[in-house]
Amino acid sequence: MVKLPSHYYHQRCYWAHMVTLRCSARCPFCILNGRGRRIAQKEMSGKEILEWWNGVEHQPGQKLSIIGGEPTMHPDIVEIINGLKNYHITLTTNCKSPFYNDPDFNKKFKVHPTSTLRINTTFHPHHLTADEYIAVIAKWRKSSYFVDQTSFVYTPETMKQYGDEIRKVSANIAMTEGSFLGFYDNEYGFSAPFEPENLMPNEGYHDIKRVGERCGLTDLNAYRHICGQATGQEVQCWHPRRSLIIGPNGNYHHCHYKMYYDIGPVCNVKDFKPTPNKDITCRHYGLCNWCDVPRVGCVKNKTAKPQVLNKLYDKKERGLPEIDYLFTDIQKFGIKYSLECNKLKWFEYAYSLLYSGHRIRGKTLDVGSARSVFPYYLSHRGYNVTTIDVSDGPYRDEVGGKFGVTSIVGDLREFDPELEGQFDLITNLSVIEHIDEDTRAIQNLARYLRPGGVMVISTDFYTRYIEYPDANRIIVSDRPAGSHTDSRVYTPETFERRILRPLEQMGVKRVGNTDFNNIDITKREERSVRGLYTFGIAIVRKQT
Ligand code: SF4
Ligand code: SF4
Repeated sequence: MVKLPSHYYHQRCYWAHMVTLRCSARCPFCILNGRGRRIAQKEMSGKEILEWWNGVEHQPGQKLSIIGGEPTMHPDIVEIINGLKNYHITLTTNCKSPFYNDPDFNKKFKVHPTSTLRINTTFHPHHLTADEYIAVIAKWRKSSYFVDQTSFVYTPETMKQYGDEIRKVSANIAMTEGSFLGFYDNEYGFSAPFEPENLMPNEGYHDIKRVGERCGLTDLNAYRHICGQATGQEVQCWHPRRSLIIGPNGNYHHCHYKMYYDIGPVCNVKDFKPTPNKDITCRHYGLCNWCDVPRVGCVKNKTAKPQVLNKLYDKKERGLPEIDYLFTDIQKFGIKYSLECNKLKWFEYAYSLLYSGHRIRGKTLDVGSARSVFPYYLSHRGYNVTTIDVSDGPYRDEVGGKFGVTSIVGDLREFDPELEGQFDLITNLSVIEHIDEDTRAIQNLARYLRPGGVMVISTDFYTRYIEYPDANRIIVSDRPAGSHTDSRVYTPETFERRILRPLEQMGVKRVGNTDFNNIDITKREERSVRGLYTFGIAIVRKQT
């Protein structure tokens, strides 16, 4: 038996297992879509899930939520529900999946005598008709299980498109209205830029008084501070001590946000370690998932402070658990598919994926891709990726074909109108130093961003500016003549003048704080590239 530290047994500590992130539906307002669509993860088997939960010491009647995605998509869902002992189980389901094809689906669950089952359903009119939903609820109610909640999500579009269906269900079943929690605007709909003013519900919501009761959103300014920002801040967050949230692959996460995107798990249940008491620092505050508000409280976190996101390579950060977890995964992916993974790149990859505040799994342009692992890893993680480079076209076509990555042969100095306003994320890593007209190239790329889109730029820095094409030949002393590439190196001042200010004049502005003196570049031991020179990063975002 695993005995947990006492805070896990507090009555408000939330125990949940997202047994699968797969779903039978494709609701445009999906809560997982707020910052990216879901991707399938390896899933624990029913046997493993039961070994874990039945092996955790708990009081009879301990609440446990079995959720997804759509949990009935898990092949062992019946074994799981029937095998849990001494739990008050809540199963949340959308009522339409292959599980429901069996006319006797409602007879499949025979929960253990020590457990109880509550069934929680939401009517998703994009996914099933009112008649189908009514029939499923009627069957569930014929079984002995308690169908506690039937609801629908009130979005700006649902009532217009599906008002008749919702009224039909309401005439048959007492159905409550769930508030839409997520980003929305009139131009982009559910793909609206992440801006506090696009976060719903807001003061204009038709039934704002009841939102507080239903979702715990008692202070909308605080809600926007917690969930509605474009960039994360660093805070001390107590959420990890108020939840035991397990993802499909058995990873134990601090909160829903980190679980949905598999960011820095505390551990896997196969080797369970409770969350540390002291280290409760989080760098993602402002991007939190709305489901996390009840645990942190609808109040602004007073410890919030902006992060330095524009800076030079800092080797000390390599040990941060979430960076280590991400980069280990990228390296494993590179080894598995024989793709190039430079061990210094952890810095750029971590800042691109963890801290830039981009639309996770959005439409992405990877620039100067050459043979890098990164665009293919992004695609593997659910991003819609295009690569662009002047060279390596046949290679990128071949590898891109395997991973669903589109490749373009293109010169960044030439503006391509077909790409204008297309991308949520541009990863422009170690490229601009190799382009003679760097300012022009970066301005072209900025025009490829959509409003709210993010570009991550990394490039080489040195103690003095050396103009293209000579830097590599002058600085790199440990390689034979003729092996050098054409490049320049920047100083903080020249990087500002040639790259950041021209972007800012176009309304593409830095996010987070800036400190290009965060390390002492005059010391060889601080320079990342064999003590010769280093590189730095900037994150810019197109204003909305
Ligand atoms: S049923 Fe739920 S999890 Fe599935 S797509 Fe719809 S909102 Fe998302
Ligand atoms: S993402 Fe938000 S809820 Fe999750 S640990 Fe960080 S601050 Fe807390």
